[in-house]
Amino acid sequence: PVITRFAPSPTGFLHIGGARTALFNWLFARRHGGTMLLRIEDTDRERSTTAAIDAILDGLKWLGLDWDGEVVYQASRADRHRDAVAQLLADGRAYRCYATPQDLEAMRELARAEKRPPRYDGRWRDRDPAEAPAGVKPVIRLRAPLDGTTTLNDAVQGSVTWANKDLDDLVLLRSDGSPTYMLAVVVDDHDMGVTQIIRGDDHLTNAARQMQIYEALGWPVPAMAHIPLIHGADGAKLSKRHGALGVEQYRAMGYLPEALRNYLLRLGWSQGDQEFFSTDAMVAAFDLGGVGRSPSRFDFAKLENMNGHYLRAADDAHLVDQLVANLPHLPGGDALADRMDAGARAKLLAAMPGLKERAKTLVELLDGAQFLFAARPLAMDAKAAEILARSADVLPALLARLEALDDWTAATTEGAVRACAEETGTKLGQVAQPLRAALTGRSTSPGIFDVLAVLGREESLGRLRDAQP
Ligand code: GLU
Repeated sequence: PVITRFAPSPTGFLHIGGARTALFNWLFARRHGGTMLLRIEDTDRERSTTAAIDAILDGLKWLGLDWDGEVVYQASRADRHRDAVAQLLADGRAYRCYATPQDLEAMRELARAEKRPPRYDGRWRDRDPAEAPAGVKPVIRLRAPLDGTTTLNDAVQGSVTWANKDLDDLVLLRSDGSPTYMLAVVVDDHDMGVTQIIRGDDHLTNAARQMQIYEALGWPVPAMAHIPLIHGADGAKLSKRHGALGVEQYRAMGYLPEALRNYLLRLGWSQGDQEFFSTDAMVAAFDLGGVGRSPSRFDFAKLENMNGHYLRAADDAHLVDQLVANLPHLPGGDALADRMDAGARAKLLAAMPGLKERAKTLVELLDGAQFLFAARPLAMDAKAAEILARSADVLPALLARLEALDDWTAATTEGAVRACAEETGTKLGQVAQPLRAALTGRSTSPGIFDVLAVLGREESLGRLRDAQP
């Protein structure tokens, strides 16, 4: 069975690159009827925070990337990591190294002088521990192969080979007995039964080190896929300005989780030139062969267009659910969050066809919907105020026509407004403009007859009375 895992370090929020890695692991597992596990790599105790863990779990849930089984916390497995090292020591595949900080500094010095990367020179590989200097607590290092090569057949990068002489004896346990990241990842992936590793290609050189640890422990190496990182639109490394933000921030910007999922899928994976994939379609189509080899570029405009497409295509009731569920995360949404009773939801639903045509994000959708919930007398924006100021002549006639209606529908109000335009000898637009301003406080809104219908007779007439000269 296929087992993948997402293994974030909780030292920051779930950033967009991490979310894509999670998505690819999730898709690969679902595609093959397997499972995706979640491991929180919290071994850096100083930099790991519970707030970051919560943000990661919330971000994954919001994106709909559910993991299987219990969350594994790496720090809680330190004893097991030490057991693995004990086995390596017993097998002669690891050794105690008593090099002092001064020794290591001298090695770095030499590397600088010879203009090459620093490496541990192996001085305690074969030395008798009886010669250990007093008071030095040893680290434990892997007895790595001195010659030959290590080759990874990566599902994305192809065949990558390292000369073993370039890889020094890495530390497995620090002198305080704490496991290193390199060791912990190997032991955890093995114990969790991971069959396929999918992660950023910043981990590619770690893969060589980890393969040596697998080999020493006599364990099979999982299949690996190192995916190119995400760059900014200008090709530079992704920064905040480019969109290197937490998933939570994308949520606050009003993107739908299904749209962000689709965007992240296409950011580094393709099948022909197809842009849109429903969740089922992406599960059916995803393969590692479709992952590109060069860094993908993050493009806000494309994400926004995709989101707009998802909004327009979405079922109205689904959008009401999404808007209400995301309110606490949207700017200004908090104030409305506790007013979303059945009546408010019904209004939103009725207005949704007109609202979603005009919005690319939930933020814009919420902005467009504000008029539904505004209290009388409405606050007018500058344009609306200006329109009302120059419409003193038509406002009373409009009110009279609409007040005379008993049956209040989009059709009957349209009839009344048209009649009013004819009566005053103006174009429909010139009557509709002040009406829109009076009813919404804005110069733009969904279709005015829909606005009249959604607000209902009493509220519409009240707003229109408030706006009379
Ligand atoms: N914890 C690592 C990270 O957040 C990932 C390790 C891995 O996937 O092997 O970059």
